[in-house]
Amino acid sequence: MTRLDARSLRALTLAMPKAELHLHLDGSLRIDTALDLARTRGVEAPTTFEGMRSVLVGPDQVADQAQLLLAFDLPIALMQDAEALERTAADLAEDKARDNVRYAEIRWAPLLHTEKGLGGRDVVEAVWRGAERTARRYGTEVRLIATLMRSHAPEANLAFIEDLATRGYPDGLVAVDLAGQEARFPDPELHRPAIERARAIGLHVTLHAGEWGGAAQVKRSLALDPERIAHGPRSIDDPSLVAELARRGTWLDLCPTSNTQASVVPTIADHPLRRLAEAGVRVTLNTDDLTVSDITLSEEYARAVEHIGVTLPELWRLDLAAVEAAFCDDGTKAALRDAFLAWGAGIPELVAG
Ligand SMILES: [Zn+2]
Repeated sequence: MTRLDARSLRALTLAMPKAELHLHLDGSLRIDTALDLARTRGVEAPTTFEGMRSVLVGPDQVADQAQLLLAFDLPIALMQDAEALERTAADLAEDKARDNVRYAEIRWAPLLHTEKGLGGRDVVEAVWRGAERTARRYGTEVRLIATLMRSHAPEANLAFIEDLATRGYPDGLVAVDLAGQEARFPDPELHRPAIERARAIGLHVTLHAGEWGGAAQVKRSLALDPERIAHGPRSIDDPSLVAELARRGTWLDLCPTSNTQASVVPTIADHPLRRLAEAGVRVTLNTDDLTVSDITLSEEYARAVEHIGVTLPELWRLDLAAVEAAFCDDGTKAALRDAFLAWGAGIPELVAG
C-alpha cells in the first residue's frame, strides 16, 4: 500500500472530486455569517468571532447525542427568515465547492425554521434558491433532504409533506429524513404516515438511527425500509443486523468525527467503518456538520486514512460509492461517475491495491 505523508494526503483528499450525502445546513453555519445574522436580526448571541465560534463549534467530546444537539440551537434561531436561509444555503454550497465536493445533499428540518411566519414549504424554497444558484455558479450539484423531527407531532410532519404534495416543491428536494433526540423520542414508527406519504410522492427515504441506543435503534428503523441510514455505526455490535443490512443493501452514511464527538465511539480509531464495509455493508464517508464538528470533507477523508486505516484505494471506492448512493437522477449520477473516474484514472495510488 502506498503511504503518503500528512501534507500529501491532505493535498490529495482536497484535490479529489467528492460526493457528500450526510450534511446538515444548520450545523454548518459560517461563524462570520452567524455574527452578521445575530446583529441584523437582533438575536442575543456572542458578538466576537471567538465567542461565536465557541458556541457554534461543539466540544471535542460530549456525553451523548443530546448534548451535541445543543450546538444547533443558536443556528436555528438565526435562520428564521427567507433571506437568512437563502444566504446560509448559498454559503454552504460555496464551502462545499471550495472543498471540491462536486455533489452534496444538504439536509435540515424545515419545520424548525417557521417561528417568524414562514411555512415549511417556503423554507424549502428559500434554501433551494440559495443552494442552487451557488452550485450553478461553481459547476457543482446540490440536492436537498427535508428532515422531519422526532420531537415534532406526527400530524405536523404529515401536514408538511401533504403541503408539498399538494402545492409542489423544488426539483432539488429529493428525500425526507428523520432526526433529533433518539433517547427522548426513540420510536420512528410514529412518523410512518409522513414517511410513507413522502415516498408516495416520489421522495427517497433516509433515517437517522443509532446515535443513541446502538444497534437496536438501527434495527428498529429498518421497519420503515429506508434506502439509507444516517449513522448507525454500532450496527457492528449485532452480527445479525450486519447481515441484514448487507442483504438489504441499505447504505450507512457514516461520520466518524461527529460520532466521536457524540461518544458513539470512544475515539475515531475505534470507528467501525472499515469493519462494516468488510462485512458487506454499503457505507459512505461524510462530515455531518462542518461547523459543529469543525471539519471539512477533505479532512474527514484524511482522518479516515490516518486513524481508521482506510487505504487510498478504499477511500476512493468510498467516494465513488457516495455517487452510487446519491438520491439524484441517473443522468446526473452518470455524469458525476464519469467525471470522477476520469480524474481518478490519473492517480495511480487510488487504483493500486
Ligand atoms: Zn446527521
